[in-house]
Amino acid sequence: MEIPSAADRRELSCDVLVIGGGTAGTMAAITAAEHGASVLLLEKAHVRHSGALAMGMDGVNNAVIPGKATPEDYVAEITRANDGIVNQRTVHQTATRGFAMVKRLERYGVKFEKDEHGEYAVRRVHRSGSYVLPMPEGKDVKKVLYRVLRQRSIREKVQIENRVMPVRVLTSDGRAVGAVGFDTRSGEFVTVSAGAVILATGASGRLGLPASGYLYGTYENPTNAGDGHAMAYHAGAELSGIECFQINPLIKDYNGPACAYVANPFGGYQVNADGTRFVDCDYWSGQMMAEVKQEIDSARGPIYLKLTHLPDETLTALEGILHTTERPTRGTFHAGRGHDYRTHDVEMHISEIGLCGGHSASGVWVDEHARTTVPGLYAAGDLACVPHNYMIGAFVFGDLAGAHASAHLGPRAGSRAALPEDQIRAAHELIYRPLRNPDGPPQPQVEYKLRRFVNDYVAPPKTRAKLDIAVESFARMEAEIAGMGARTPHELMRCAEVTFIRDCAEMAARSSLTRTESRWGLYHDRADLPERDDAAWMYHLNLRRRDDGAMEFVKRPVAPYLVPVEEFTVPGPGAGPVVLTPAPAMSFAAVPASPAGAARPAMAIGRSPRLLELQELAETGPGVGAIAPYLADPDPKVRRAAVATLTEVAPDGVAGALASALADAHGSVRRAAATALRELVEVLPATPPVREELTPALRSEDAIVRAAVLDVLRALRLGSQAVFEDALRDADHRVRLQAVRGLVAHDAADEVARAADDASREVRMAVAHGLGTIGDPAAAGALGGLIGAADDLVRAAAFEALAGIGCPHPLDLTAVGALHDPAWQVRTGAVRGLAAASADVASDPLVKALDDPHLDVRKAAVISLTAFRDVAAVRDALSRAQDDPDADVRAYARHALSEAP
Ligand SMILES: Cc1cc2nc3c(=O)[nH]c(=O)nc-3n(C[C@H](O)[C@H](O)[C@H](O)COP(=O)(O)OP(=O)(O)OC[C@H]3O[C@@H](n4cnc5c(N)ncnc54)[C@H](O)[C@@H]3O)c2cc1C
Repeated sequence: MEIPSAADRRELSCDVLVIGGGTAGTMAAITAAEHGASVLLLEKAHVRHSGALAMGMDGVNNAVIPGKATPEDYVAEITRANDGIVNQRTVHQTATRGFAMVKRLERYGVKFEKDEHGEYAVRRVHRSGSYVLPMPEGKDVKKVLYRVLRQRSIREKVQIENRVMPVRVLTSDGRAVGAVGFDTRSGEFVTVSAGAVILATGASGRLGLPASGYLYGTYENPTNAGDGHAMAYHAGAELSGIECFQINPLIKDYNGPACAYVANPFGGYQVNADGTRFVDCDYWSGQMMAEVKQEIDSARGPIYLKLTHLPDETLTALEGILHTTERPTRGTFHAGRGHDYRTHDVEMHISEIGLCGGHSASGVWVDEHARTTVPGLYAAGDLACVPHNYMIGAFVFGDLAGAHASAHLGPRAGSRAALPEDQIRAAHELIYRPLRNPDGPPQPQVEYKLRRFVNDYVAPPKTRAKLDIAVESFARMEAEIAGMGARTPHELMRCAEVTFIRDCAEMAARSSLTRTESRWGLYHDRADLPERDDAAWMYHLNLRRRDDGAMEFVKRPVAPYLVPVEEFTVPGPGAGPVVLTPAPAMSFAAVPASPAGAARPAMAIGRSPRLLELQELAETGPGVGAIAPYLADPDPKVRRAAVATLTEVAPDGVAGALASALADAHGSVRRAAATALRELVEVLPATPPVREELTPALRSEDAIVRAAVLDVLRALRLGSQAVFEDALRDADHRVRLQAVRGLVAHDAADEVARAADDASREVRMAVAHGLGTIGDPAAAGALGGLIGAADDLVRAAAFEALAGIGCPHPLDLTAVGALHDPAWQVRTGAVRGLAAASADVASDPLVKALDDPHLDVRKAAVISLTAFRDVAAVRDALSRAQDDPDADVRAYARHALSEAP
C-alpha cells in the first residue's frame, strides 16, 4: 500500500471518544450516550466479537450480592490479597456498585445462575467470602451488549468504527483532546477531535511468551497488546504497580484458564503429581501463584486439576460448561490428545506474565471516577489500576468513566482549538514507517525475540542483574523495532503493537528494578531482595513520562483506608508523594526512508449470498418481519443464521418468531431456537401471549425443544403447576428434569416427591436437591426413601438435602450411621446434612469425621462443625484440624475458628 500523507486523513469528531469496544468500553459508550453525549467508539477488531468477554465468561468473579457478603468484607479481602497496597476508594466503587450492575446486565438479557426460587446462586470459591456468581450462558454476554449498543436510542448517539486502531492520545495544554490512528483494513489515516477520551483497551496480554511458544497463544485476548498502557504513558498519565504482574493458572499447552472456579464447586481440585492438594493461600493472589509455581518446580510437579474421581453425570455437566461457555476449542484440545476427564486429570501450568488490573493490580492510575492524572483522559477495565476488578469491575468503571466524562467535557466541537499537528505527524511516522522498509525483519520474528527477553529477564524470580539486562535489551531493540517491515494495513497493526509491547516491557523492567523489596508473592518476587519492606514500600509505585521524555517514578503513599484491615498500617496523613530519580529517556529511533512496498490485493472470502445479506441486515436492527423470509428459506443454514440474527437483535415479537422456529423441520434449527429462547430469557416479556406462543412446543416430538420450553416457562414464571406435573410423565429424562425444577419453583413438595422413584438417576438426584431447596419438613418421608436407595449418588444427595429440612429425628441418626458408609460421596452428603442437626446428635460424630481417610469428607466436616463451634470439644477438634495434611481442610478450620460465633 501507499503511505498516505499526514494531511490526507479522515477527520472525526465527538463529545466522548471511547477506545476499545470490550467490556469496559461498551459500557462506557452506553452510559455516555445515556447521559446525552455524542460518542465515538473505536475498536481495532469488531465490537460484536472483540475482547476478553467474547472468549466466554463462566461467572462473575467478584459481585457483592446483598445478604451473601458486604462491601466492607470485599474491600478488606481485596486489600489483603494485595498486601495492603490499594486505593480502597476505587475498590469500594466495585463493591458498592457491582450489584446494581448485575441487575442492569440482567435487564439487558445477561443470565446469572439462580435457584428454582429465583435467588442468586452465589458460590463460595475462595475460602473467604462468597463473591462468585455463575453465568450459565456466559458465552453470550458480548452478544447481549452489542444488541444494546444497537438499540435505536443508543445507536443514534454512538458511532461505532470497527477496525480503526488509535496509536496515540492527542493532548493540548495538558488535556486529552482526541486521538490519532488508522484503519487496519484500508490503511486510511484517521484523527479524532474529542471533548474527553476513555481508554478501555484491556490488559497488556502479549507481554510474556506462553509456554507453548505461540505469539497469540496467550491467557489474555491476544489483540490486547498494551496499546492503552503505551498511549496513556505517552500522553503523560501516571501508571501504577507495573511491577505487580499478572500470572494465572491455566491448562498446560492450551491458552485457556484451568477453570478451578467452575470445577471446584463440582468437586474438582488441584493436586500435585502425588495426588495431594497443596494450595494453602486463601485468595486468588500472587501468594497463591507462588505456591503453584513452587509445586510445579519441585519434585512433586507437575500439577493437575483433579476430575477423574467425579461421577460421569458431573463430568458431563462440567463438559457442558467448559467446552461451550468457557472455550469451545477446549473439548477439541483434550480430544486431540486422546484425553477425557474420566480417564485423565488435566495438567496445569502458569501463564506468561502480563499487566492487568482485572486479575492483579497493575495499570493506569485512576481515581474513583476513573479519571487518570491527565485532565479529560479516563481509563477503565483491565487497563486501569483497580486491583482484582475482573469483569464486573470493568463494567462498573466503564459506567463511571462514561458518566463522568460526559458531564465534564472540554470545549464542544466547533469551539475547539486545532489538533496538535506535531503529535499527529509523530504518530503518522510511528504507523507507516514499516511500509518504507517492506523487506525489513517481519513482526513475528521481532516480537518473538522481544518477548523471549521478557521471559528470560523480566518474569519472576526477578534479580537486579537480570532486570538490568532487560532494560538494556529493550533499549537496543528500539532500533530493530523501528526497522521492521510491512506491506499491508494488517501488518502495520501488528508492527504498531510491537512498539506497545516494548514500551510495556520497559515499564515492567524499570518498575521491578525500582521497587527494592519482594511483594505480592510471585507477582513481584525479587529473588535478590526476598523480604517485604513495609517501612520503605507501603507505597504505590507510579511512573510517568516527563516532558523531556525520561521515565520518572513517584512513590505515592497508600491513602487512609475506608475499611481498616488490622494487618496493615498506612503511612500517616503527613506523607506525600516522593519523586524518585528519573530513568533514561524512552524514545523512538527514526528509520531512513525507503520506497513504499506495493499494495497486496485483499483476499475475497467465499460465503453464501443469503448469509451475507442477513449479516448486513443485522446491522440495521431489523424487525421480525424483515427476518421472516430468511426463517422460511429452503436452506437450514440460512434459517439457523436467521435464528442467530433474531437472538442478536431481539426485536419486538422475538418470542413468537422463535416459538415458530421450534417447529422447524430441521433439528439444528429447532435446537438453535431452543438455545436462543434460553439465551433471551431475561429480556422476554413474561406475558400470557408469550405463554400461548410457547405452549404448543410442549407437544414437540423433539425432547430438547420440550425441555427448553419448560425451562423458559419456569424462568418467566409462566408455567402452571399442572404443566410441570404433566411433564413428569414425559418419556425423556431431560424433560422430566425440567419438570422437577418447575415444581420446585412452585414449592410443590408433594408432586416433587412423587418423582422419587423415577427411572433416571439424574431426576432422582434433582428430586432430593429440590426437596432440600423447598425445605418442607413434610418431605422427610420422601427423603427417607431416597436415603434407602441403591445408588450412592442419590443417597448422597438425599443426605445433603436433610440440611434443608432441619435434619429431623430419626433421619439424623441414619445420617450418623452413614458416616461409616463405604462410599465417600455418601459420607460427605451425611456430613453436610448433619450441619442442621442438634449439637447433641451431630457434634461428636462430626468430630470423628475429621479423621475420615477422604479429604472431601474431612473438608465437609470442618464446614459443618462451624455451626457447633461454641461447643468446647468442637473448638479443640477444629484447632487440631489446622494441622490436617490437606490444605483445604486446614484453611477452612482456620476460618471456622476466626469467624465470630
Ligand atoms: C480467559 C479469561 C477468562 C476470564 N473469565 C472471567 C470470569 O469468568 N469472570 C470474571 O469476572 N472475569 C473473567 N475474566 C476477566 C474479565 O473478562 C476482564 O477483566 C474484562 O473483560 C476486561 O474488560 P476490558 O474492557 O478491560 O478488556 P476487553 O474486554 O478485553 O476489551 C479490550 C478491547 O480493546 C480493544 N483494543 C485494544 N487495543 C486497541 C486499540 N489500540 N484500538 C482500538 N481497540 C483496541 C480490543 O480489541 C478489545 O476489544 C476473564 C478474562 C480472561 C482473559
